[in-house]
Amino acid sequence: MLQDKPTIAELLRLASRLEAVSDSPRLDVEVLLCHVLDKPRSYLFTWPEKILDQKTAQYFNDLLQRRADGEPIAYLTGQKEFWSLSLEVNTTTLIPRPDTELLVETALQAMAKSDAQVLDLGTGTGAIALALASERQQWQIMAVDLVPEAVALAEKNRQRLSLDNVRVLRSHWFKDIAPQKFDLIVTNPPYIDADDHHLSEGDVRFEPSSALVSAHHGLADIEIIIAGAKPYLRTGGFLLIEHGYQQAGAVRTLLQNEGFVSVSTERDIAGLERVSTGCFQRSPQPL
Ligand code: GLN
Repeated sequence: MLQDKPTIAELLRLASRLEAVSDSPRLDVEVLLCHVLDKPRSYLFTWPEKILDQKTAQYFNDLLQRRADGEPIAYLTGQKEFWSLSLEVNTTTLIPRPDTELLVETALQAMAKSDAQVLDLGTGTGAIALALASERQQWQIMAVDLVPEAVALAEKNRQRLSLDNVRVLRSHWFKDIAPQKFDLIVTNPPYIDADDHHLSEGDVRFEPSSALVSAHHGLADIEIIIAGAKPYLRTGGFLLIEHGYQQAGAVRTLLQNEGFVSVSTERDIAGLERVSTGCFQRSPQPL
């Protein structure tokens, strides 16, 4: 029950209601309060005695209840920070993860060319493409997604961030991309096995399975991408793939079997193998 005329300090104490669903109940309540008040976090500590009007208090209470039912904070506020960017999110796409910043870092390190042509497959919110575009204004980046709502969302994020070096299109992996060559292809495809118990726990329960689940032990989409990448890569170009922490060996083998060279894997801060890379070298023509 929501008490009449609650103050900020009183509402912050409701964090205890989130203890069963969240690792960070206090932070969650702070973020939700900032969202309904449309104020920065410092406001909560400067004005703890401030009373919320009835409409705002009701809105907060609804969001708190949805959070207590397990909905991810990012879907409740409609936004998520990734890299240095604030992105709009909705339930048609995956919520960008801090994990994926490893893919962005690896891409920035792998590609020395100042005017690289880059492709982001399965862009979702546009997180990877927009992060790369914000770091490298001279790169030309194409971002594609199969889901029309994701294409619309990524385009909206692109416009809000005024990143004119990104183009967002609809395509099922390479299928609808006109023949052309890229220096770098990056992707965070679905890679979770349908039977993985993580799918019934926490935030992922609310995310679209099209962005999470892939057949063949989570490798089916990665296989399609590795098999289809070469016609779209310049010689010396790179393919970078985010994958599950137990999939690195399988992904390296797939890359090697397709003829990629300098195949390697980057570890995240927890020491887990999460991003694998292959370089495409055109084989010399037989004499
Ligand atoms: N890393 C995400 C998770 O484990 C999954 C992301 C993905 O499938 N691309 O929740």
